[in-house]
Amino acid sequence: MSKVKALIIPVTPFQQNCTLLWCEATKRGVVIDPGGDLPEIERAIAQAKVAVDKIWLTHGHVDHVAGAADLKARLNVPIEGPHRDDLFLLERVAESARSFGMQEGENVTPDRWLEDGDQAEVGELKFDIRHCPGHSPGSIAFLNAAQRLAIVGDVLFAGSVGRTDLPGADHAQLIQSIRDKLLPLADDVTVISGHGPTTTIGRERATNPFLQQAAAVSAETELSGGRGAASFAAT
Ligand SMILES: [Zn+2]
Ligand SMILES: [Zn+2]
Repeated sequence: MSKVKALIIPVTPFQQNCTLLWCEATKRGVVIDPGGDLPEIERAIAQAKVAVDKIWLTHGHVDHVAGAADLKARLNVPIEGPHRDDLFLLERVAESARSFGMQEGENVTPDRWLEDGDQAEVGELKFDIRHCPGHSPGSIAFLNAAQRLAIVGDVLFAGSVGRTDLPGADHAQLIQSIRDKLLPLADDVTVISGHGPTTTIGRERATNPFLQQAAAVSAETELSGGRGAASFAAT
C-alpha cells in the first residue's frame, strides 16, 4: 500500500504544479514549489487534513518559489532546497515576479540547502536528493524509490525536458543529469513534473524525443571519436 499521497495544485499564470505531498501514516506533509496562489494551496491543505512541516523547493525560478517566503511566514515552517547554485535566482524573486506581473513574489532564503546524496524527510518517508543541473544550476529532484515516486521540477516533463534558454542553463548538462540521475530509476516510478501531466520513468525512457536524441548523439560521438556537444547545442 502506498504510504505517500500527493495532490497537485496548478498555480500562477505559468500553471506550475505546486504539490502537497504527505505521509499517509502520520498525516505530516510538505508543500513543494509554492509559486503563488496561496489561498488555493491553503484550501488544499485544509481539505487533505494534513499538518505541513516544511516547504521544499526544486529550483529557484519565480513560478516555483514566488509564494515560498509568504507561505513560510503563514505556516511557520522551514524551507528546504534547492541546491545553493540557485542562490542567484532566489535573490531576484521579487524583481522577476514584478517583471512578469505576478501579484506575489518575495526573495527566498532557504533554511537548508540540499545537495546530491542528502535526504529530506516528511513523516515516516525519506526522499533522496539528486542534484540535476541544466535547466537551472541548482535544480534538484526528490526521489523515493520504495514509494516509486520522483518529484523533478522542470528537469523532465512528459514528452519533453526543461527549457535551457535561461541564465545558467545548459542543454547538454540537462540531458546528462536526466540520464545519470533519473533514468537509472525503475520504469514504474511515477514522475511529478513542474508543469503538465504526471508521467513515468519507463514512458519517458521509451518515448521522450529529447532522450532518444541524446542516445543518438552519444552513439554518433563514439563512432566518430569527436566531441558531440557542439552539434547538439545547436538544436
Ligand atoms: Zn524552471
Ligand atoms: Zn517552471
